[in-house]
Amino acid sequence: MHFVVYENHRLGIVDGDVVIDVTDVVGSGGQGPGGPLAALLEQGYDPAVFTPERLANLPRRALAQVRLKAPLPRPGKVIGAPVNYLEHKAEMSVTQTIADLGIFLKATSSVVGPGGPVRLPYLDKRTDQEAELAVVIGRTASNISASEALDYVFGYTCSLDITVRSTEDRSTRKSFDTFTPLGPWVITTDEIADPHKLEVLCWVNGLLRQQGNTRDLIFDVANLIAYTSSVMTLWPGDVILTGTPAGVGPIVDGNQVIVEIEKIGKLAVTVTAEGAIPYDARPGPRHNHSPR
Ligand code: MN
Repeated sequence: MHFVVYENHRLGIVDGDVVIDVTDVVGSGGQGPGGPLAALLEQGYDPAVFTPERLANLPRRALAQVRLKAPLPRPGKVIGAPVNYLEHKAEMSVTQTIADLGIFLKATSSVVGPGGPVRLPYLDKRTDQEAELAVVIGRTASNISASEALDYVFGYTCSLDITVRSTEDRSTRKSFDTFTPLGPWVITTDEIADPHKLEVLCWVNGLLRQQGNTRDLIFDVANLIAYTSSVMTLWPGDVILTGTPAGVGPIVDGNQVIVEIEKIGKLAVTVTAEGAIPYDARPGPRHNHSPR
């Protein structure tokens, strides 16, 4: 199933070119900041609830006429995987991979939905797109093995891990508001038999910039979940970005960025420099400040 969140905390299932409104299945719990899909997962997702008979009696609208939001507008956690493809390691001229670096956290306030916009914070610091497969956790997971890890996945979606190329730690450079586009929907695992053979494509203004495949992940989805769950408990609705293949590059004002992942779909966002400031104008004293 393809779950979407749209307009005023509505939860939908996409069926061809229509959206079936399943908001009432979740009840009032879906009105909070985590949104209705997070509420569904917290309640314990049971696909048996969504029988064809039940869906047949629910209201529906044309998909093209609803405004899609991020499927998880405020996940419990957004986890990132640094240098998780060898070709991306090569293009960045770095010596370490995820095996050395571990994982990192992105602020959940960085999530934005289809369309974006992605807002560039600085006028004069390179900011890159990173197209990534995102994993949505369905069940609480702590210290689980790779062999059982995929049983803890609810579904998959497209994501961008937008990144400023500056000297700060990853969690700073990747946590600006709008730096984690997610969507357009979450596809449940029954439709993705194997997450380890999915093409990941990314276009910027119509030019193909990234073309990778999840078969080349260093920590594949199962190992990434096993490793992450050895560090922190994963909860339903947590999101793991699995890392970017080669082809990252600068995005600038007015760009359109499209991520397409095989069997999942396409996520498109626009980029704006509106409100961007010179890097040197950011708050905080610099190295030469004298201690009080
Ligand atoms: Mn990344």
